[in-house]
Amino acid sequence: MPRTGWIYDDRFLRHDTGEGHPERPNRLRAIVSKMRASGLLEQVTPLPFEAAGDEVLRSNHAVHYIERVAEACLSGDRHIDSVDSAICPASDEIARLAVGGVVAACDAVMGGTVANAFCAVRPPGHHAEHDHSMGFCLYNNVAIAARRLRKLHGLERVLILDWDVHHGNGTQHSFESDPNVFFCSFHEHPRFCYPGTGFPEETGRGTGKGTTLNLCMMPGATDDDYREQWLENFEPSARAFAPQFILVSAGFDAHANDPLAGINLSDDAFSWMAGRIADIAKDCCKGRLVCILEGGYDLEALSTGVVSVVRVLLDL
Ligand SMILES: [Zn+2]
Repeated sequence: MPRTGWIYDDRFLRHDTGEGHPERPNRLRAIVSKMRASGLLEQVTPLPFEAAGDEVLRSNHAVHYIERVAEACLSGDRHIDSVDSAICPASDEIARLAVGGVVAACDAVMGGTVANAFCAVRPPGHHAEHDHSMGFCLYNNVAIAARRLRKLHGLERVLILDWDVHHGNGTQHSFESDPNVFFCSFHEHPRFCYPGTGFPEETGRGTGKGTTLNLCMMPGATDDDYREQWLENFEPSARAFAPQFILVSAGFDAHANDPLAGINLSDDAFSWMAGRIADIAKDCCKGRLVCILEGGYDLEALSTGVVSVVRVLLDL
């Protein structure tokens, strides 16, 4: 079996966010270029995928929101809901393509075509709510993937690890009442960082109490601080949950050089986290692991981070 699936399409570059927007096409150009230079692009297995239809989007989003995104793009609006979420006429199709890619990666892992996968997609997804966009995100790629694993593939326990420096509010809200999806987010403390949610006391609702874990990192936090939280809090809860599939919202904006936040991770932190989560996947769920790109706005830190995660997925 080829080891690592790769989701990428040049069409992702067509989501035009306008001059000066940090979530820009060059992010993916930098990733592909470093994947090629490091020799990894030849070792991953490109997976076929197509734009997601309404039914797939409806698993996590309101019908009126799906229509609103399509209409806003069609009418030439340059943003939706807030200036953060920039759009262009192609954005509806490209956002659907990102969802389609993530869903195809999950299907390929479940079907045994590949052991794991990395999705180099944009726009990102973890801030997208049920009925509105937020923070550069239109559709919640990772949440839709989890819905698919639960409903189509019949899995009972899905773990979502979100190590993007921003709280994955949309993902948390999708699953905070659902005991079958364990959402854990490492992020810069909401008192200092967008979107201002993800406090430690947010631990889930109703029957979902206990399957939301927010690990808030103080500005300036380092690899050691992450390691401590990981080993003391995240890993024991993740293993106790015994996931049948692991999804990672892989953002690279907790890197020290990232311009959007104040956490100080080194390059090594991402390969360390990838190695640990791959081990958990190996022990709990036959290695089933799909990583989905979220943020990361320093091109060098971003592309280096992606390459180090893919290296772990390939088991090199
Ligand atoms: Zn982020």
